[in-house]
Amino acid sequence: MTNKIAIVTGAARGIGLATTKLFLNNNWSVAMIDRDEDELANAAAALTGALPFICDVSIPEMVTTTMATILEKYGRIDALVNNAGVAIFKPLEEMDVECWRTVMATNLDGVFLCSQAAIPALKKTRGAIVNIGSISAVRASTLRVAYGTSKAAVVHLTKQLAVELGDYGVRVNCVSPGPVKTKLAAAVHTPDIIKAYYDGIPLNRSATEQDIAETVVFLCSEKAAYITGQMIAVDGGFDASGIGLPALRASRQ
Ligand code: NDP
Repeated sequence: MTNKIAIVTGAARGIGLATTKLFLNNNWSVAMIDRDEDELANAAAALTGALPFICDVSIPEMVTTTMATILEKYGRIDALVNNAGVAIFKPLEEMDVECWRTVMATNLDGVFLCSQAAIPALKKTRGAIVNIGSISAVRASTLRVAYGTSKAAVVHLTKQLAVELGDYGVRVNCVSPGPVKTKLAAAVHTPDIIKAYYDGIPLNRSATEQDIAETVVFLCSEKAAYITGQMIAVDGGFDASGIGLPALRASRQ
């Protein structure tokens, strides 16, 4: 076991699992949190230096108990990556309040609850929090009334936490991925929509989980010692591009 400890939520697969692996490659130990018991157990069993902790980050009591268990096990927390997220995409008028609350409960409440529970330990280590936002936090588009709003709130919560925790040396940043081919993305995007996305990405491909993990682990490291309160888009230029990109590409053919 190494002396630096990261907690990664939603670690059973996708971006959370890639982030866990990169921390391990950088000689951190990782507490992997997820609500999917089987998938988490399988993922953790294949890794050395990571332990699984079953927890639904939207349930306050579970978060409190799990953080206490992790602290008891490791004695310290150096980084918290609030990655667990859900996506429900629907037109505005079909987004019932239950779906709205489901999205907010994980994507926003989960970030708040896990951060609040980890802060006393992070103050002791002058540690870091990285929240996973989304490019949907800054670009409004179809079907994302709940998802995009929850992620925009995460960007603001990041700034709020960074300002409140700066005196304690705790840094808080947000990484906003563009499209990444994960189970979450496959559940909400049709092939047509995926193609339309790629047409709008200057680097002409979707992100890999590794692309996102590299920025997350950097932000948790000493190399990012003077970065706090920031949102960094890891999106291949998606946010920077306007409607002119497909026309530019067509003009080159
Ligand atoms: P995945 O669905 O592949 O993985 C997310 C994991 O988090 C799953 O194991 C999921 O379990 C778990 N999880 C969900 N809700 C909770 C909860 N309340 N408590 C504990 N665990 C939970 O997602 P991605 O890797 O694609 O996404 C990771 C993050 O990146 C999310 O915050 C997402 O919004 C964000 N993101 C993803 C993009 C993409 O294109 N993939 C783009 C922009 C942002 P379960 O199976 O039970 O849901």
